[in-house]
Amino acid sequence: MEANSIAIDGPSGAGKSTLAKMLARHLGIIYVDTGALYRTVGLRALERGADAKDAAQVTALLEEISIEMRHDAYGGQRVILNGEDVTDKIRSPTASVYASDVSAHPAVRSFLLDMQRSMAKKYDVVMDGRDIGTVIMPDAGVKLFLTASPEVRAQRRFAELCERGVETTYESVLRDINYRDDNDRARASAPLRKPEGAIEVDTSEIGLEASFEQLRDIISERLKVKNDRT
Ligand code: C5P
Repeated sequence: MEANSIAIDGPSGAGKSTLAKMLARHLGIIYVDTGALYRTVGLRALERGADAKDAAQVTALLEEISIEMRHDAYGGQRVILNGEDVTDKIRSPTASVYASDVSAHPAVRSFLLDMQRSMAKKYDVVMDGRDIGTVIMPDAGVKLFLTASPEVRAQRRFAELCERGVETTYESVLRDINYRDDNDRARASAPLRKPEGAIEVDTSEIGLEASFEQLRDIISERLKVKNDRT
């Protein structure tokens, strides 16, 4: 199903998940948030008091982890860890940093690979993450790379956390974003980079609606060209 699927990559806070959800709803297909999977492994490490940077400790944890994703028709996704719905828990700033640390270990990436690939094989999807166009769905119908300046991304993330009642500061959100960006770009295993053939969209200066319209038009144009060719 990859030919009609949309891969969205980019750094934290570029608007990927909000826009991916809107696009999935518009296209009537499933939205898969792959960051939630890394966050779930990160949460387990946090709750078990493991050192998220220690490959052996994190790899040992994988044996006691079972993750399930549930999707609805409206772009919603719930994540179940060993029978517990952790969808809300994985959104804390600490879980974000743990997610970034565990995601660097090749054992974690291969542990989560099958879940992501099998979703992409079974369904037309809008999938977002850091290695979707490079590793998970290299043959996606449309590959997008969303960016925005670190300050704009931190401002958006800060507003989102405040809205959810999480106590934090802009400075600490900016620090976390820079930390995660550096980690994601520098790791040896599936680093964040613009996939070959991806269209880059910088959302720093444009609002949500305008970003959505731009991506919607790129997708319909790209899929039309592809389908006309086949
Ligand atoms: O997208 P989100 O911010 O929820 O992702 C949390 C973390 O999971 C990221 O900082 C990144 O380190 C990791 N991640 C990844 N590959 C993906 C999706 C997320 O390494 N495909």
